[in-house]
Amino acid sequence: MTTPANRARLILSLRSAGITNVSVLSAIERVPRELFVPETFRDQAYEDTALPIGYGQTLSQPYIVAFMVAALELNKNLKVLELGTGSGYHCSVLSHLCRRVYTVERHRALLANAEQRFSELQLNNVTTRAGDGMKGWAEQAPFDRISVSAASKEIPQSLLDQLAIGGIMILPVGGADRSQVLTKISRTDSGFETQALIEVRFVPLLHGLARDKSA
Ligand code: SAH
Repeated sequence: MTTPANRARLILSLRSAGITNVSVLSAIERVPRELFVPETFRDQAYEDTALPIGYGQTLSQPYIVAFMVAALELNKNLKVLELGTGSGYHCSVLSHLCRRVYTVERHRALLANAEQRFSELQLNNVTTRAGDGMKGWAEQAPFDRISVSAASKEIPQSLLDQLAIGGIMILPVGGADRSQVLTKISRTDSGFETQALIEVRFVPLLHGLARDKSA
């Protein structure tokens, strides 16, 4: 059931799991997660669990979304690139905490659904594109923040190139067959600093646009 009580319970559980950033928690509270999951899973929308969104893809558990968003150290002046729009949930949380989100998804059908949700929720600071996010979004670079929702063995060079000096990128690094590490990359005047955060499990970042057949 989707009640304010369920949302409040989710916030409490995130808080007790160690998410203390008040603006991140309130952004999560503002996004109706039930709109982003297939109808059959709506009763689980406010559980702290990952859910399927079609095309073999998954919406991360709220704890991971909150953790990643908090690690980005956002503010309203920042321009963010998100790779792997999926359902659009993570992007919606980001949109409440920054100036503009540019989001790229390789499945046109998933992107079309996400776009509908963005317009329904009147999130006017989200710009979308169907394409291969591994290449980033050169025309809009540099980005103050980059958030990647799918794992890769190596960090794509184009993403490093498109990160502004002083910028932060958060991405899962590792293959599908072994554990992945959520990694924070900070770009400084002199190069890049890398920090391992927590172990995670994401779907892989794949090359090229997907040939959408059926969900
Ligand atoms: N953040 C999403 C969950 C994403 S699951 C949400 O809130 O729902 C990971 C997504 O990354 C999938 O939708 C997958 O299609 C997409 N993806 C994988 N490789 C990609 C690439 N190279 N470019 C863009 N999107 C990609």
